[in-house]
Amino acid sequence: MDDLTQLPGVGPTTAEKLKEAGYTDFMKIATASIGELTDIEGISEKAAAKIIEAARKLCNLGFKSGNEILTQRKNIWKLSTGSKNLDEILGGGLESQSITEFAGMFGSGKTQIAHQACVNLQCPDKIIADDSIKEEVLNEPKAVYIDTEGTFRPERIIQMAEALGLDGQDVLKNIFVARAYNSDMQMLYAENVENLIREGHNVKLVIIDSLTSTFRTEYVGRGKLAERQQKLGRHMAMLNKLADLYNCVVIVTNQVAARPDALFGPSEQAIGGHIVGHAATFRIFLRKAKGDKRVAKLYDSPHLPDAEAMFRITEKGIHD
Ligand code: ADP
Ligand code: MG
Repeated sequence: MDDLTQLPGVGPTTAEKLKEAGYTDFMKIATASIGELTDIEGISEKAAAKIIEAARKLCNLGFKSGNEILTQRKNIWKLSTGSKNLDEILGGGLESQSITEFAGMFGSGKTQIAHQACVNLQCPDKIIADDSIKEEVLNEPKAVYIDTEGTFRPERIIQMAEALGLDGQDVLKNIFVARAYNSDMQMLYAENVENLIREGHNVKLVIIDSLTSTFRTEYVGRGKLAERQQKLGRHMAMLNKLADLYNCVVIVTNQVAARPDALFGPSEQAIGGHIVGHAATFRIFLRKAKGDKRVAKLYDSPHLPDAEAMFRITEKGIHD
């Protein structure tokens, strides 16, 4: 928890009120809107603006020079999916400081990819990075698995770990699993990742499996769409912040819906519309092929061509 009394015009009483309202640290305040802070008793509009501005400075938010961005991008590392073909279309693997979305129908392999990523994080061969970054990533890396569908299976992790010659229990120890029963819990768990990091855990992988299922069941009908999209947008912003600030790989899985109005193009699309589409840097569509084969299609990437790759899901896990 940050010492909020460092902010202008914030004494112990206001600090306490801010904390009660959930604004426990500078980052939460820096990313709040003036309207949100004025909801708190005793904070005027003018005071809110000052507090937010000061918090932003403390968090180094705001413009960055091109060189700073370049330095930050130099820290990017990649996590292998287990399939060389799939890594290749992603430009080398799952990239840190980005969100990668896997969308597809039931059984297309989204959850399997998420499990494999947790295992691969413990495997030095699967981390692609410069020496110094690799050292930082491999310093007891932890994965966070936010499970909204109840499909996390420790047995499967053990099976995949043993296939790579790793100790299954050791891999499991490094995965924090949280079962989210609704979208509020899901968002709260994502926010709490920062607490884990502050406690000293080297969280390098964050998984939301699935991103949209809770939202889909809670916000039904046209009338709820705007509210749903707003909340989903905040969730994605939070995930992007985690990815950027802590150099994490973030994976979200997504369901698909039929496009009944599709005259051209695919007959299915990922849920969440533009909000999800714009927040995810890498978007992959998965579909089943013959037997254990799956086809992954990368689309809408800002800097990579659309491409397809074939991989397999077997008892060993994800591979070519
Ligand atoms: P979803 O996209 O719905 O999350 P999953 O990732 O759960 O789909 O994929 C389920 C598929 O993965 C199963 O249909 C099966 O083909 C394969 N699979 C799951 N576990 C194993 C295993 N232990 N051995 C081989 N294949 C498996
Ligand atoms: Mg699944």
